[in-house]
Amino acid sequence: MYHSVQFISLGPGDPELVTIKALKALRQADAIFYPATINSAGQTISRALDILVHLEIPSDKLYPFNVPMNKNRSLAIEAYEKASAKIGNEQQKGSKTAVVAEGDAGFYSSIHYIYDNLILKRIPVEHIAGVPAFIACGALAGIHIAKQEEELIVIPGIVTEDELSIHLQSGKTIVIMKVSQCCDAIKSIIKNQPQPTYHYFENAGVAGKEYYTNNKNDIQSRTIPYFSLMIIKS
Ligand code: SAH
Repeated sequence: MYHSVQFISLGPGDPELVTIKALKALRQADAIFYPATINSAGQTISRALDILVHLEIPSDKLYPFNVPMNKNRSLAIEAYEKASAKIGNEQQKGSKTAVVAEGDAGFYSSIHYIYDNLILKRIPVEHIAGVPAFIACGALAGIHIAKQEEELIVIPGIVTEDELSIHLQSGKTIVIMKVSQCCDAIKSIIKNQPQPTYHYFENAGVAGKEYYTNNKNDIQSRTIPYFSLMIIKS
């Protein structure tokens, strides 16, 4: 009997924000594939692995797949194709196979490449929903991300100051993901348009690494890491 490949959402970093459904699926899986990156110092880093270890998922069923943190998307696509082949083979052996992703597995998650690949190969897939980072960030700041008739716009990284300015004028709440891709635009708009509240987050929910501020000077002096996010409320 063949099982669907499960795409399991791990939440943004706090192991307690994994759903009960995700935890059950992780415990029942035979093979769990998780994304990992090799940094410039040659170390393997994986937020997903950190969460899996916290949840005491046995290491003998964990398999990393390498995700190059390179601007060259074709390298990443190649890596995802390789991973898809391995995952497909595992599923074809009859194993309960899972792929994990930080936050929600269907929200700006690059594992969509694997998901789409498996669908092309007619391998059944299933998605277990999870808490996306921006929701956890809103809770961390104690803010209501959107209320009443307010509209929300999510920008996945690259944005110019002019584009941000247009969104701000419309009164929409803005979520910016991958802030590290648009540091200059953000720092500049904070300087030129000080009226809105800029909520800035790093590593929400990650013990010892979590950071939050809405102080404009503190944001200006910050070196922006990959796991950072901003919520702007006009
Ligand atoms: N699937 C994820 C998003 C992956 S894209 C989700 O549902 O949230 C990667 C981006 O998500 C990062 O650049 C950052 O903007 C955001 N992110 C993920 N985890 C985060 C965390 N713990 N704290 C702050 N931002 C985070």
